Amino acid sequence: MKKLEDYVLSIPDFPEPGVIFRDVTSILQDADGLKLAIDELQNLLEGVDFDVIVGTESRGFIFGVPIAYNLHKPFVPIRKKGKLPRETISRTYNLEYGTATIEMHKDDIKPGQRVVLVDDLIATGGTIEACAKMVEQQGAKVEKIIFLMELAGLKGRDKLKGYDVASVIRYE
Ligand code: 5GP
Repeated sequence: MKKLEDYVLSIPDFPEPGVIFRDVTSILQDADGLKLAIDELQNLLEGVDFDVIVGTESRGFIFGVPIAYNLHKPFVPIRKKGKLPRETISRTYNLEYGTATIEMHKDDIKPGQRVVLVDDLIATGGTIEACAKMVEQQGAKVEKIIFLMELAGLKGRDKLKGYDVASVIRYE
């Protein structure tokens, strides 16, 4: 039987020379790969008590929503700047390539809620750190952070000290 790693295509020199891009679309295009990805990511939440899943644009949506649906929890999106229609809070952070600003609706998370953060991949950790800070800015608690893939060599976990972090596939 194929393992999840077997579905991931690694694309050299994308989006710029020297970067190896781990492509999740190659998982999604196979029904067995898609099921395995959702199931294995969801398994990381076994025994975790939480109220809401927060996922970040755009691949955090692909994996966050099915898990929220399966576990009958709400899903809150974090989006790139300028996409959300109601009042937002925002944060600008450094990426592996450049900078970015992300936003979430101000009232989507309530003080005291226990949040699970989901994204497809952690590289430098800048994106998810910004997400965690926005959740905390609203008085909620980050209960767990889960990724399908982790680029361990980029030491993203160093930015997430104090959080409960787990990933399905680890690339050294
Ligand atoms: P970080 O902020 O941890 O440096 O970068 C993580 C963000 O960039 C995630 O939202 C992720 O989707 C995207 N990203 C960076 N590198 C890759 C990669 O190799 N593959 C995929 N699928 N996403 C990546």
